[in-house]
Amino acid sequence: STFLYCDQLVSDFEKVIETPIINKSSVYYTGVDLGTAYIVLAVLDENYQPVAGAYRFASVVKDGMVVDYIGAIRIVKELKQEIEEKLGTELIYAAAALPPGTDTLDSGAIKNVVQAAGFEITNILDEPTAANAVLKIKDGAIIDIGGGTTGIAILKDGKVIYVADEPTGGTHFSLVISGAYKMSFDEADVYKRDFKNHRELIPVIRPVIEKVSTIISRHIKKYSVKELYLVGGTCCLEGIEDIIAKQTKLPTYKPQNPMFVTPLGIALNC
Ligand code: ATP
Repeated sequence: STFLYCDQLVSDFEKVIETPIINKSSVYYTGVDLGTAYIVLAVLDENYQPVAGAYRFASVVKDGMVVDYIGAIRIVKELKQEIEEKLGTELIYAAAALPPGTDTLDSGAIKNVVQAAGFEITNILDEPTAANAVLKIKDGAIIDIGGGTTGIAILKDGKVIYVADEPTGGTHFSLVISGAYKMSFDEADVYKRDFKNHRELIPVIRPVIEKVSTIISRHIKKYSVKELYLVGGTCCLEGIEDIIAKQTKLPTYKPQNPMFVTPLGIALNC
């Protein structure tokens, strides 16, 4: 399958979030993903195998910008400590990533957050490059539908040749559900994340998926993109790939769990 490595890595990671692997690795590599919806820490051992992970729902980043600096530091620190206690070791090295198209100013902010939380920064890379360390795609476009934004990265011969980030993501799906079901935003978000509700929700959120599809088509039209690869938490929605494929008229693939691809890719580049 296209996603053999990715699916194995993500499924190993999901297991160690629950039950960490305590081994005598000489070094640990941490990937810190500061997202609009979640902050994720992924920890790999000296063989680049997942050994631990933790994540927290947080609103410290908006449109790729750190808006709650103190809150971001506190959460990264807490997640770091939580994992350190479980592993019985100190985490020293970390890498972080930036959404496509973010300027150097934000790279400074993200770097400062990770350092202030007690890490030594080894690398700051862009999110699509991180995701592709796991997906290993040569040609096509990676579509990262997160909480706040949709990132588009076009790859040619394994290299990122074009990136864009647009402010439509999972938050907008939750807003639409909140309106349609008369739920609070938080209730709608919980309802949306439950796989049991996906089939029922698709007709309600179809217009938002179509909007995302239009955004994708607009960005890729100057390039001869032949395939789309979906990552990001919003792509957990069952059936989203079929609507995007139909709208963009392109074969659209997604790994078993699109949610932790980027944080694992960040850790791989630590
Ligand atoms: P961004 O990339 O915009 O900065 P982020 O990195 O926090 O945000 P992700 O963690 O990739 O984004 O995705 C978060 C989004 O995914 C949220 O809107 C969340 O509601 C949604 N999401 C998570 N799990 C599911 C699920 N099982 N079904 C549907 N949506 C989900």
